[in-house]
Amino acid sequence: MTSVYISLGSNMGDRLSNLREAAGMVASLERTCLIAESSIYETEPWGLKEQDSFLNMCIKIETELMPKELLRKLQEIELNLGRKRLIKWGPRTIDLDILIYDDLNTDDEELILPHPRLTVRAFVLMPLLDVSGDIVINGRRLSEWLGDISDQGIKVFK
Ligand code: ADP
Ligand code: MG
Repeated sequence: MTSVYISLGSNMGDRLSNLREAAGMVASLERTCLIAESSIYETEPWGLKEQDSFLNMCIKIETELMPKELLRKLQEIELNLGRKRLIKWGPRTIDLDILIYDDLNTDDEELILPHPRLTVRAFVLMPLLDVSGDIVINGRRLSEWLGDISDQGIKVFK
């Protein structure tokens, strides 16, 4: 079994149920079990103000799925959840990103690991810290990466 951290984000429709449904679908993937769930965080939108704020969370799983197998499964879940609400809410109800897959480093454009924006986004770092502890990524602890980031308008939602 391999430890994997996945980030979940939603800013359309019923954001909380999108996160919960997606987390449940990941947890029920074959050869996979859910180990931990972070708190849910809300990030105020910046730039385009007319879009809803984002809800973000992170989960830890253990899986026997290979990295690209897992990526494909996550993309299927994105499609399933997106499609269901396509007419009412638009196509992008959930974003599922693989943050860390064991100690794997890849630079394949289809799957970059660790996730390239992990260390610069508070809405990824804060929930990840909840489930991983203060691990070292790209040579520095998560708390050190967070220390570099000025307030990104993130607060605990639930
Ligand atoms: P984003 O997550 O950047 O907002 P998308 O969810 O549309 O955008 O993903 C774009 C592409 O990113 C996907 O087609 C996928 O192949 C690629 N990708 C690269 N690395 C990763 C990763 N670690 N996790 C998820 N997708 C990734
Ligand atoms: Mg994505």
